[in-house]
Amino acid sequence: LTPIFLHFVVFRSRTAKHLPSFLLLGPNGAGKTALMTSFADGTPAETRTSQAPHSLEADIPANLSSSSKYRSDADPSLAVHKRFMLQDTPGHGKLRTAALSHIPESHGVVFVVDSSSPDLGDAAEYLHAVLVSIQKLQAKKTGINAGYPVLVACNKSDLFTALPAEKIKEILEAEITKVREAKSRGVVGVGQEDKDEDDWLGEGGSGAFTFDQLEDAGIVVDVKGGTVKEDGWRFKLGEWFGQSL
Ligand code: GDP
Repeated sequence: LTPIFLHFVVFRSRTAKHLPSFLLLGPNGAGKTALMTSFADGTPAETRTSQAPHSLEADIPANLSSSSKYRSDADPSLAVHKRFMLQDTPGHGKLRTAALSHIPESHGVVFVVDSSSPDLGDAAEYLHAVLVSIQKLQAKKTGINAGYPVLVACNKSDLFTALPAEKIKEILEAEITKVREAKSRGVVGVGQEDKDEDDWLGEGGSGAFTFDQLEDAGIVVDVKGGTVKEDGWRFKLGEWFGQSL
């Protein structure tokens, strides 16, 4: 180890745990690791990063963040970069419960799906579990609540079989409607037969599920399409992180 590297490690261990952290969730093969790596690579103007295994310390210019919108361009604080952590998780079915356990300590979730996948049923079931976890967390909070940010990142938009984000959103909403229905009848999920009312996702009754129904539950869902190819996510994600910080 060079002295410079040691300095870097000490610096990270002292500060990283205090930074807001975003969690990368999604099924296996959706592109979580590729997305995280693409966010770290290169020397882009708008995003600077450094990497550690499974988590990444990133920073974005403050002019991409929501709190800067009332300041003038001449404000020197705009030169300050906002720092945060990005946490990768395994998407394998058996490891999902462990991945979900990081939600309470995270500032927001990026849920990655493969837009070229012919079947989004498994992704929808996982996303349903993620949203129910966040809903339970939000229900315990009191006072003014800005809403827990969730970005559904419809990845691999470069593939010719990929569907546009708007379509993926519709499919996920329809699939979550089915999951919600099935869960309420107790037919999905081994060991989850108890019909717990808290497990019903969203307001809006028993009709079709839409992500908008989660706003009253303190969850703000954005759906965006992109690709890790040619820096396709860097600006879109940077902007979303900035608004969510
Ligand atoms: P993870 O299991 O969610 O971490 O998925 P990976 O990051 O390992 O990606 C799974 C596969 O999809 C790899 O072969 C990646 O190279 C590929 N991949 C990820 N993102 C994209 C993308 O935006 N476009 C294309 N064409 N391939 C991608």
